[in-house]
Amino acid sequence: MKSIYKEYNGSWIGWPGVAREDHTTKELDQIDALLGKENCVPVHLSHEEINLYYEGFSNRTIWPLFHYFTQYADFNADTWEVYKSVNQKMADATISVLEDGDSVWVHDYQLLLVPEMIKSKKPNVTVGFFLHIPFPSYEVFRTLPWRKELIKGMLGADLLGFHVYDYERHFFSTVRRLFGYEISFNQIHVEDRIILADAFPMGIDYDKFHDAALATHQKPLQEKSRLHQELEKYFLTSPDRRLILSIDRLDYTKGIPNRLKAFARFLEKYPEFRYKVTLVMLAVPSRGQVDHYQQLKKEVDELVGSINGLYGSINYTPVWYFYRSLPFENLIELYSSCDVALITPVRDGMNLVAKEYVASRTNKSGVIILSEMAGVAKEMGEAIIINPNDENDMAESIYQALTMPLDEQRERMSFLQDRIKRYDIFKWAHEFVKSLFKARDIQSDFL
Ligand code: UDP
Repeated sequence: MKSIYKEYNGSWIGWPGVAREDHTTKELDQIDALLGKENCVPVHLSHEEINLYYEGFSNRTIWPLFHYFTQYADFNADTWEVYKSVNQKMADATISVLEDGDSVWVHDYQLLLVPEMIKSKKPNVTVGFFLHIPFPSYEVFRTLPWRKELIKGMLGADLLGFHVYDYERHFFSTVRRLFGYEISFNQIHVEDRIILADAFPMGIDYDKFHDAALATHQKPLQEKSRLHQELEKYFLTSPDRRLILSIDRLDYTKGIPNRLKAFARFLEKYPEFRYKVTLVMLAVPSRGQVDHYQQLKKEVDELVGSINGLYGSINYTPVWYFYRSLPFENLIELYSSCDVALITPVRDGMNLVAKEYVASRTNKSGVIILSEMAGVAKEMGEAIIINPNDENDMAESIYQALTMPLDEQRERMSFLQDRIKRYDIFKWAHEFVKSLFKARDIQSDFL
């Protein structure tokens, strides 16, 4: 996003990520001054706001509901009130730096009400909104008590962006069912306005990952990180050793328990791969204050323990489990050292890890096993596509990936790389901004 807001001489408005009470006035002034130098406008939040708005309504209500975890969605009138008030704070901070004729791009599910809050006060500003998570089917969305308010908030935008067409389609059907507005092609007719909606599959900075992977390969052994040296040693112990990679935030949408069970099923069914195949599992700590995340951590710890206990030996650990985040350099080393990427979310708006793995495979080897429930699956027909609820299917796909001939891996990877490189993060952002200007022109022609 940096390239976009700098190119258009814009401001970046948001919560700086710390609680207001944890800092003295002097420290807050210093934070504000540093952010100001980067054209960032901070909106400070209190502990209570972070708890009720961010961990509460955003992460205990919208996040599970939009990912089809209806049983986890907490419908709580108190968190809803704070969600509204923080959205208003964000909108007010934005309005204070906006002038007529400007454009603003609002991001993600924490700010669903902001487009309308801006539009109602600044009708001559063009508002874009991008949703980084799925938009669910109406049958799921309708369960939310504040469903109309959220949609009304989103409809303040002139352009609404989704990762894939399915999410856009769900949004259209929700708008029709709740408000009865006419929709033709990708235009929603709302009284005196036309709102555009479109799919913009988010990309990555392809060259950054690719170039970093090339640099990693060229480093002499003694300059490589400890992790990389350990990975290389692992392969030296036996030429037919293989690594399978799993990287996500520790989130219940990512299907980590299913993945572990499928790996165990694979080891059970194909004993010839025991002692040869290791699952490298990086789980980044996330939202530890929310109880469902704590339960998931326990479940994952137990599953890893039971697989390692059952199939491990003194010189073989089937699952290498890292519960932490890793620096960029180590991520690249993992992406470029692992033969297979096992990406099996039960629901995921996009999944950038899949694209980063593709970009890092400089010799074009490697296989991706990918859940059909991830938005990225729409762009990755060359991956082995699986249903994350089908453990047998996943176990078979691991076998297929590990026995795939190199020529076939390279052929598939070439197609994937061409596609992911072409529609990278810069293209994504520019396409969105181009459409935002188009939405503005359509609106002025209409009036
Ligand atoms: N990532 C990271 N540090 C880590 C592991 C992952 O910064 O230790 C990054 C990874 O490179 C990717 C992002 O976290 O860009 C995860 O994005 P994704 O779309 O896959 O899932 P999300 O977490 O947004 O649901």
